[in-house]
Amino acid sequence: MWIAISLLLAAACVALAVRAHRQRRAAEDRIDQLRAEIYALQEKQKDVIAENRAHQLAIFNSMVEGILIVDEHGRIQTANKSLERLFNLSTSPYGKTVMEAFRLHELLEITERAHKEDVVREHILTIPGIQQTRFLEVNAAAIHSYQDQLDGVILIFHDITRIKELENIRKDFVANVSHELRTPLTLIKGYVETLLDGAKDDPSVATRFLQTIHKHTNRLTFLIEDLLTLSRLESGDVLVQRQPNLLADLIDRVLDELQSVAAQKNITLQNLIASDLTLDIDADRLEQVIYNLVDNGIKYSSPGGTITVAAEANPQGATISVADDGPGIPHEAQSRIFERFYRVDRARSRDQGGTGLGLAIVKHIVQAHGGKVWVQSELGHGSTFFFTIPASSDINPR
Ligand code: ADP
Repeated sequence: MWIAISLLLAAACVALAVRAHRQRRAAEDRIDQLRAEIYALQEKQKDVIAENRAHQLAIFNSMVEGILIVDEHGRIQTANKSLERLFNLSTSPYGKTVMEAFRLHELLEITERAHKEDVVREHILTIPGIQQTRFLEVNAAAIHSYQDQLDGVILIFHDITRIKELENIRKDFVANVSHELRTPLTLIKGYVETLLDGAKDDPSVATRFLQTIHKHTNRLTFLIEDLLTLSRLESGDVLVQRQPNLLADLIDRVLDELQSVAAQKNITLQNLIASDLTLDIDADRLEQVIYNLVDNGIKYSSPGGTITVAAEANPQGATISVADDGPGIPHEAQSRIFERFYRVDRARSRDQGGTGLGLAIVKHIVQAHGGKVWVQSELGHGSTFFFTIPASSDINPR
């Protein structure tokens, strides 16, 4: 009897142990399964984060603006391609501090201000460079986590160097125009006042003064005309209408117009262009180019010189030259004379009625024909201005 009870108890114990073992195994299997699921979820989450980050970086990298994200410890978390370009960074700044990566105290200050003040708006950062100083507009904002804890700072950089340059060009232009207008006006006013004060009663003085007033009003007229021409050319209002034209005939027309002025200085004007050279050009505009170049030759040459207009045709088009045996142009001024209002000798140019805009107009018209203009000159040995007119289907180079 006891044996039977003992056996039954032993069997019950074994059964319980087997059950417990099975349950533990099942629980372990379930834990393993859950672990695998958690791992898979974590991996998936990592993929999603990586994908989001790659997506975010692709957006950042396609932006023209430079983007910099710094974490709460001041270390760089993200820097897009534009930023690397703007700062000429050769290696990725990832993980570095702002000072380590950029060596710019001002940038560190902006980051710290954004930390403290939440936003920094339209700060202009000046970056000195070997070739040019660059200007970047920086907007910065603190980044907060969802629990409103500070996570870092995002800085957005916009290159405004070109805007600054244009602003300076505009300011210089306005200052130059005002100066150019004021000089003859002051002189005219002075002469008129002297005439009114009594000089008008002396006929010889009055005539001399009136001639001077006449000269300065002419200067004002030329200036306004040149300014209007330049403004029309720059705004694209004047369309260059190219048509086949005999170049030699066009040059003859311009030289005829300037003949009497040249004769006053005993200057000879020569046209060496082949009579059958036809170019596809806007005749009115090209006359203006030749007029300005020959007129300069007359203005700046000493009496008794010669001005020669020649052309060389080639399959690419033609190169036209206007040469004088005048005073020449210093080497350092040769690239600048095509700028508006640039003159080698201000007083001399004004005295000759120059507006300082003639060569700028020449450059615009030549460029509108698809060509380029340059000068070759040695001080004391004259100047030769060259410009090209590229061939188009209608050009007939010989
Ligand atoms: P400007 O009205 O003063 O002549 P331009 O734009 O035509 O203005 O020329 C700019 C400057 O280039 C002139 O002031 C002058 O100093 C110089 N220059 C132009 N052509 C000649 C030339 N043929 N010989 C010497 N200097 C010249």
